[in-house]
Formats: sequence, structure tokens, C-alpha cells
Amino acid sequence: MAVSRPGPAGFAGGSGPGAVTLQPNPITLMAKYKLEYIWLDGYTPLANLRSKTQIKEFAAFPKLAELPAWGFDGSSTRQAEGKSSDIVLKPVAVFHDSTRKNGVLVMCETYLHTGAAHPSNSRATIPDDPDTWFGFEQEYFFYKDGAPLGFPPGGFPEPQGPYYTGVGYKNVGSVAREIVEQHIDICLDAGINIEGINAEVAKGQWEFQIFGKGSKSAADQMWVARYIMARLCEKYGIDVEWRCKPIRGPFDAPLDWNGSGMHSNFSTKHMREVGGKAYFEKLMAAFAKHMDEHIAVYGPENHLRLTGLHETQSIDKFSYGVADRGASIRVPHSFVNNGYKGYLEDRRPNSAADPYLVAGRILKTVQSVPTT
Ligand code: ADP
Ligand code: MN
Ligand code: MN
Ligand code: MN
Repeated sequence: MAVSRPGPAGFAGGSGPGAVTLQPNPITLMAKYKLEYIWLDGYTPLANLRSKTQIKEFAAFPKLAELPAWGFDGSSTRQAEGKSSDIVLKPVAVFHDSTRKNGVLVMCETYLHTGAAHPSNSRATIPDDPDTWFGFEQEYFFYKDGAPLGFPPGGFPEPQGPYYTGVGYKNVGSVAREIVEQHIDICLDAGINIEGINAEVAKGQWEFQIFGKGSKSAADQMWVARYIMARLCEKYGIDVEWRCKPIRGPFDAPLDWNGSGMHSNFSTKHMREVGGKAYFEKLMAAFAKHMDEHIAVYGPENHLRLTGLHETQSIDKFSYGVADRGASIRVPHSFVNNGYKGYLEDRRPNSAADPYLVAGRILKTVQSVPTT
């Protein structure tokens, strides 16, 4: 830790008996912080997380406004041609990183040197509203040596059934729980609103839930929670498989394994405080009308997952239903019991979807419906 001491410590004033006054010691403690700048690359249809560290000195944990813009070589991330490859990183959200001494996680947007948002910068394009709340349920698979964690080499474990919220070595193995526990703690230390975890339906499949207010903040937290998980798994020789249908098999056969979703729960101030059946029905009509625009941003390969089986609706149908896990939008019992007030669950977004685009699209459709 660097200490800057301007002048001899503690004393100021003249000399001679009685002339010395004790002053507060003007010490400024500076520390070198490790700033991990995180961004989304230009790969399609599924962007990858990228990050790099810069070390800078601050008097205290840095605030967002104190973090400088930075840059990277976009020709290595499918974000630029080689001849003009500098892409600007603009910090947009800052989190504590308890895995590193003086660690900071800095979520960034990408910009061209002209000042325009990079085409891959989905965050820059979405509407925001701090009174719209999102709860994302992120499902994913742990993968080791090319197969879900716990699958025997070249084969399959017992059919799914006991794995969902399961306990015991034969259901969850010996490593996964250690990882998800650490992930909770790192997220909490970071100030991310992680709300829970559970083992999921397929072996090696898990879920965590992230809640946030505003489409940008909720999705920032989601991306950083994904980053933390992917980085945490490195030391276990495990990868996170975000794709929505990594294990395929004939339907209705024993080898038919669940896909991964990112159920997106949402509520606006109007939905929470006013609601009503008439407004709800107008809202659902708007979701039906914009079905294609929603599906377009709900994640790649979603036709493999939204089949009408495994608690999903088909990709080409829109439906809603009370407590209906086979509907596109599930309406919680509490919503109806409270006079059509509260939150709704869009079950269609998949595990690999970009939460910026998902939250932005939901908000856009909701905002298209008049509240009077
Ligand atoms: P399930 O697995 O039964 O679908 P979860 O408990 O996994 O449900 O997830 C419920 C999600 O709903 C959580 O992410 C939570 O943050 C979110 N949620 C709860 N209340 C609200 C609300 N008022 N607005 C938006 N999201 C909400
Ligand atoms: Mn859930
Ligand atoms: Mn789930
Ligand atoms: Mn759900």
C-alpha cells in the first residue's frame, strides 16, 4: 500500500518552547486496485465474455465516475478489422471482487473511436426504467471433458428424475455444490443480488437467480454473475455450458435431457401497484403480437428447446396460463389472487440469451401498452 506523506509527519508551526502545535496528520492512503474490465465480444450468435486487468491507484474503492475509459484490440474479438482495430471500453457498472486483493470488476460497453456504440453493444440500444424489476433464472450445465459433469465416460447416468433439487453424491457429485456455494459468496461480496440456487432437472445442470431494478442494472449483474461463474470453474477444470440444449436425444426416450432456460420474471410499477385484469389482457395481446421480435432475442438454438415438451411452449406459439409451466408466460397464483397485480414469468428466453436484449425487449413491449 503506497503512503504519501507530505512533509514531516504531524508537526507544523514555528520553533521554540510552546510554539509547536499538533496538527492532524495529513496522510493519504493510496492503494493499487486491480481493475478487471469485462465486455462482450463480437461473436454471433453467442457473444463471449472477455476481460483484462489494469492496475491503478485510488484513495478508496473506486466509484464508477473515477474509472477511466480503456481500449482493446477489436481485431482479436471479431469487433474490428486489423487496420483500425482500437475499440473503446466505457465502464458502466462496478463491483467488488473478493477473490483478489483490492479487486474490482468493471462491466463495460464497447464504442468505436468515432464515439458511436459498437454494433455488438446491445446494452446501448435498450430502453431502461429503474421501476421495472427483473428476476432472471439462469440455468446452465457444468461440463467436464466434453460431457455434463457426472456423466460416465462415453455414456449416460440414470435418467433424470432425482437430480432436480437433489442431494447426495449420486445426484449432485462432489464438486458442483462447492462451486455454486463459492459463486453465491463471490456474488454477494460483489453486491450482486443473487437470490438463490438449485440443482436442476438434468445431471450436471444447475440454476442461479439474479434480481435487479432496471433493465440495464439487472442485466449487468447477470453478465457479471456469469463471468464470476465461468472464472471460478477454471480451477476445477470445468466449463460452463450456456447453450440451451447441449444434450440431445430422441424425444420421449430415456436419453432425452432437459434444456436450459433463462426464465425472465418482470414487473413494472404499474403492474405491481395498479394491475387489473383488463390491463393484463392488453399486455398479453401485445406479447402475442410481438412474439417474433421476442423470440429473435431469446437466445440461439431455442427451437431445440421450445418444443412443447419439458415444461416449454412451442417456439411458434404464444400462450399464457396461471401456474402453467407449459405456457410461454406463466402467471403466478399470487398475481391473480392480488387482483392481477405483481410479476409475470416469461419462460421462453434461454440460458444463452443476452439479458440486455431480453430485458430491453420485454420493457419495449410493456411500454407499448397504455396504462389508462
Ligand atoms: P421458479 O423456479 O418457480 O420459476 P424462482 O424462485 O427460481 O422461480 O425465480 C423467481 C424469480 O422471480 C426470482 O428471480 C425473483 O427475483 C423474481 N421475482 C420475484 N418478485 C419479482 C418482481 N416483483 N418483479 C420481478 N421479478 C420478481
Ligand atoms: Mn427457478
Ligand atoms: Mn429452473
Ligand atoms: Mn422459472
